[in-house]
Amino acid sequence: MPPSQNNRLVALILLLKDEWLPAQRNRFNEWFNGCREEPILFWETPKVRYGTYTVGGITALWLITWLVGSFVPAPPKNARPRATTASYHVTCDRNDCGHHFLIDRKFGFDDFPVVCPKCHKETGRQSMRCLSSQCKGKYVLPAERDGKKVCSECGAAARVAG
Ligand SMILES: [Zn+2]
Ligand SMILES: [Zn+2]
Repeated sequence: MPPSQNNRLVALILLLKDEWLPAQRNRFNEWFNGCREEPILFWETPKVRYGTYTVGGITALWLITWLVGSFVPAPPKNARPRATTASYHVTCDRNDCGHHFLIDRKFGFDDFPVVCPKCHKETGRQSMRCLSSQCKGKYVLPAERDGKKVCSECGAAARVAG
């Protein structure tokens, strides 16, 4: 009876197990013992040497990438998105109210008057800072005199709030 495929496979496995594996093990043991006695042998094994070069190269690349990355300033964790709004000082134009408040609007906002949060009328006008000795930096409503913006309270030239 001719040997079946299975038998040949078993024979091959047995051959590997009995011949190839012990041979590999012996080679490894020889190499290992050699390395133990003579550590330079370990380094002279091409697989070890090239393996070390490869690992070393990858480590160096990774280090360079990491170093370069650490030199580029990362945005701080609590960085706020770039401001697109500004705070505007608003003063209510009603004589019996005169409430001063701040609103946040887009840059260049010019849609005054806005609603006053105190009297709920649309009477909030952009106010300016008056630095005269009388007003002492108070936010006032601008008035116009000879085509110039002046303080509506003291008549001095008013400066736009910074
Ligand atoms: Zn008001
Ligand atoms: Zn003034």
